[in-house]
Amino acid sequence: AHGVAGLLADAASRWPERTAITETGTGATLTWRELDEAAHAEARRLVSSGVAPGDPVVLRLPTSADFAVALFAVLRAGGIAVPLSPQAPAPELERLLEHCGAKRVVQRDDAELPEGVAGLPPRGEEPGDPVDLGRSGEDIAVVSYTSGTTGPPRGVLLSHRALLANLDQLSQVDGVTEHDDRVLVSIPLFHVYGLGPGLLMATAVGATLVLSERFEAQRTLQDCAEHRVTAITGVPAMYNEFAALDPEELAHGLATVHRLTSGAAPLHPKVLAAIREAAGVDVYEGYGLTECAPVVTSTLVTGYPKPGSVGRPLPGIELRLVESDGSADELPLDPEEPDDVFEAGGSTGLVSVRGANLFSGYWPDGAHGPDAEGWFRTGDVGYLDSDGDLHLVDRANDLIIVNGFNVFPHEVEEVISQLPGVAEAAVVGVVDERSGEAVKAVVVPAEGAALSEQQVVDQCTAHLAGYKVPHTVEFAEALPHSATGKLRRLKLR
Ligand code: ATP
Repeated sequence: AHGVAGLLADAASRWPERTAITETGTGATLTWRELDEAAHAEARRLVSSGVAPGDPVVLRLPTSADFAVALFAVLRAGGIAVPLSPQAPAPELERLLEHCGAKRVVQRDDAELPEGVAGLPPRGEEPGDPVDLGRSGEDIAVVSYTSGTTGPPRGVLLSHRALLANLDQLSQVDGVTEHDDRVLVSIPLFHVYGLGPGLLMATAVGATLVLSERFEAQRTLQDCAEHRVTAITGVPAMYNEFAALDPEELAHGLATVHRLTSGAAPLHPKVLAAIREAAGVDVYEGYGLTECAPVVTSTLVTGYPKPGSVGRPLPGIELRLVESDGSADELPLDPEEPDDVFEAGGSTGLVSVRGANLFSGYWPDGAHGPDAEGWFRTGDVGYLDSDGDLHLVDRANDLIIVNGFNVFPHEVEEVISQLPGVAEAAVVGVVDERSGEAVKAVVVPAEGAALSEQQVVDQCTAHLAGYKVPHTVEFAEALPHSATGKLRRLKLR
């Protein structure tokens, strides 16, 4: 067995009768042996329908056993898995199909086939030989489309080497998924956070995956209790909802859970504190991106959560902060003033990453991959505090420049969020004749709360330099989010 598909072959030979997957919705369970056999059968179906090594095959499936079967089947057939949201509207799906050139789609039998795509032969008994067309190393295993938070989605080429390297880096950290864990994953598997640290990590160690198609705070807590879940691989949007529940209900649901991990978007320190207080469980925050397959840092590396920090690089990953003008000088860190980051200072920079987990450029030709020395510039702005823990400030692209002064939206959003009655706030730059750009806030009031524009402005004036105070404030019922709960600023703008 080779490459990423080899993880399943190993799990099936080491722990054949252990439960690999339990679905919360259907109650269906699969052992590692059953998953292995299903993936061989599905691989035969793909090969007999003409999938050849190197062909992209779209996976259009929810967080379910079907996804795991399809992923390993595509890899065994030598193909490249292109996971897409099963909810993507037809025009978006067609655009992505055209972009990645896939001729085959693995999807639920009752889903409509996109135009120009041939179906697969029906599933039969299909007895036959195991399929393993053995791609590995630098061969591309997955094309993962980024969330499209900052621009049109890009297809990130992830090799077998990159995905396996990140699992290896993760496995060197205490507290990451272990053999005895029963891990709840309800985030999308089509996003690399669910796919790598969720599905593949559990396969590597033979843990049990408790898969849920949809997160619904109370329902999910009941699932946790019913399936004696020990860990959750999740995103801040989930933990925000947990933190808003009755503390006793939360403690009951999380009674068997000893670890929560969060990534993909910033976790609010008050959420971390609320869950700790109610249920005695810590949320460990990590930072990653599709191009890094995906995890870069985690507070699990030090073993203690640190509010506001995303922790330290995993073993084997190098991280440095570079000046945003493009010169690769390492920035002088300022240990004297670790907190003074929003003022123009020398201690923040663009986060750059180097390691065996990095991507191979973008679809189709591998353009814009890591530079000649192997560094990848992430586009995130951050600083290291005096302990060496990373704090993210914002994305370089989100920076608002008012009269030449830098405003990072996240700082303003934090201040507005502290105002009672605010459910969520977002800040964007809008064109302004006088100042170039002006700060605009869009605020979602909590249910039943009455808020005025003036209150928001007063709150900002009390806590922020004048140029950071929003010029305009608009109220909205909701803000646009991605599947992993990221604010979609471009859409908002
Ligand atoms: P696109 O590149 O299409 O805009 P995207 O950047 O959202 O999409 P992803 O790979 O899904 O693509 O997300 C990676 C980004 O998510 C990181 O660059 C970072 O900005 C953000 N992120 C990840 N983890 C965290 C975290 N713990 N706190 C804050 N931001 C995070």
